[in-house]
Amino acid sequence: MQTRHAFEAEVSQLLELVIGSLYTRKEIFLRELVSNAQDALDKLRFRAVTEPELMAGDGTLEVRIRVDAEPGVLVIEDTGVGMTEAELAKNLGTLAHSGTKAFLEKLGERRGDVSLIGQFGVGFYSAFLVADRVDVVSRAAGHDQAFRWSSDAKNGFTIEPAERAARGTEIRLHLKADLAKEYLDRWHIKDLVRQYSDYVSYPVKLEVEKEGPDGQRELEQINRAKALWQRPKAEISSEEYEELYKHITHDYEPHLAHTHFKVEGTMEFLGLLYVPRRAPFDLFNPSGKRGLRLFVRRVFILEDAQEILPVYLRFLRGVVDSDDLPLNVSRETLQESRVLHAIKKQVTKKALDLLDDLAKDKPEDYAIFWKAFGAVLKEGLAGDSAEKDRIAKLLRAPSTKEAAGGLASFDAYKTRMPEDQKAIYYLYGESEDVLRRSPYLEALEKKGFEVLFFTDPVDEWAMSGLGEYDKTPLVSAMRADLELEKTAEETEKERKDKEALSPLLTRITKVLGDRVREVKLSDRLTDSPACLVLTKTAAPAFMEKLLRESGRKVPHEKRIFEINAAHPLMKNLASKIEVESANVEGIDGWIEVLYDQALLSEGSPLEDPNGFARRVTAMLVELSAR
Ligand code: ADP
Repeated sequence: MQTRHAFEAEVSQLLELVIGSLYTRKEIFLRELVSNAQDALDKLRFRAVTEPELMAGDGTLEVRIRVDAEPGVLVIEDTGVGMTEAELAKNLGTLAHSGTKAFLEKLGERRGDVSLIGQFGVGFYSAFLVADRVDVVSRAAGHDQAFRWSSDAKNGFTIEPAERAARGTEIRLHLKADLAKEYLDRWHIKDLVRQYSDYVSYPVKLEVEKEGPDGQRELEQINRAKALWQRPKAEISSEEYEELYKHITHDYEPHLAHTHFKVEGTMEFLGLLYVPRRAPFDLFNPSGKRGLRLFVRRVFILEDAQEILPVYLRFLRGVVDSDDLPLNVSRETLQESRVLHAIKKQVTKKALDLLDDLAKDKPEDYAIFWKAFGAVLKEGLAGDSAEKDRIAKLLRAPSTKEAAGGLASFDAYKTRMPEDQKAIYYLYGESEDVLRRSPYLEALEKKGFEVLFFTDPVDEWAMSGLGEYDKTPLVSAMRADLELEKTAEETEKERKDKEALSPLLTRITKVLGDRVREVKLSDRLTDSPACLVLTKTAAPAFMEKLLRESGRKVPHEKRIFEINAAHPLMKNLASKIEVESANVEGIDGWIEVLYDQALLSEGSPLEDPNGFARRVTAMLVELSAR
């Protein structure tokens, strides 16, 4: 009996976009379907470890492609796990991935560009780029009954019982009339599939035109069918590495770098790690996809084995194939495995080696990497990572001694340090642009001290975790403990200033009351009249804002209000207080404006924006009347 089903709303939306797409690289459907076939074979082989009867009677594991006797039909068949009736409805009628909404939005923005399609786990639906009807006949391993799923993408899909002699899945593409010629041409298919299939660990066979002696058409194997990572490095072309990368990630952009290695000794495993070129949409989503594909003695075990990687390397993709883990290892037992910990350690080391080399040999590519994943790598500075020093070496940040957009390393910073500089200074805030204009830089710049700019939420945490680099302490330019060394002359001048400005300091302290912790003279300002400074434990304004936005309660720690004794405004205010001590009203308003300005520079919201506007207007009125 046939049943009719509707697609989930998001699938319909997606299919509409796929059908209407003007995307020219329609041949991606082949890669997606061969990729799904391989996954189905992997799953079968994995399940057969504990349920050998699933493969009883037919141990063949392969992908077959043929031009069907029915006109206009191309068939991609596999002898993998297959799907039950319920699985057909679920897998080919709903979208498993939570990121699909994001995908649909992107697709809407870049109309017609479905190159992102596979990345979001919607690979199967790319069949509708070339077909106006798709039938999927599948028989799940261990089941006797097969089922046919059928759809024209417009009116939902139907499922009904069907005939299929053996386990596996057959995808029948009823090609669109204008594309049939192209995709039924065996030479063309062979060409395309060969490109995509050399990474595939199972034979991919194409049916040839010629009939064999038994009246059956012959099959020609068109790939090597050996897992790529098991072949010697010297024999593997960069295109082949690229193809495996695309298979694993569904990313249509080439990867940035990779490393392929074999670890031998007390433990043996093969690893192939890739650094993608751009960040996936779920990089900072705790439930996002991450981890490597884990194989045990060539048998696929787990899709996203995150246990093999430290969190701060979660952007890596690739494969680990171990000789030592037991075949029946599961996610649960994996965590306690000693072998796994040893693998993780080696993988971490190899990954950092890869990044070291990239930084050294291809600084431009490294900058691309850093912009995409630097914020993730820095997480490794905060925890109790054993690799802190290596990660710190890999850190990059914009700086006062780099042109806008340029990046400095701690090592480059240290070689540029003047002799009397004792610390590495950094400033933390919303954007490089804002930081470049910050008053907190003034005195440091004047002394020729470089300041690094940090703009990622993780930075404050990472820097306090790191504490120092190569024995040089890291100091925030916004903190109260920014102790710049003073000459005897400077100390003497400060004493004098303090004396001269003492009535002003008292006045400011009174006006600001308990809004600030303390009012004092600054030695970090040269051009600005005043600024707010953080005590050791306070979170910077930008951090406070982020934490509040993420719904957390953050106590606001009081700042220290620093004033610049050398600024003409302070001198004027001080003399006004002396002569007009009876009328301080006006002066109090000015102090309020100064304080508000300091809040703005720090990146904090104003406590009373209307009051600020009113006072500034009053000053403008007074000035313009002169
Ligand atoms: P993805 O492969 O990224 O999960 P697809 O849209 O390509 O997304 O496929 C959806 C699901 O359909 C797969 O996860 C798999 O469970 C199932 N599927 C697709 N093709 C096959 C196949 N040839 N054999 C068995 N299951 C398949």
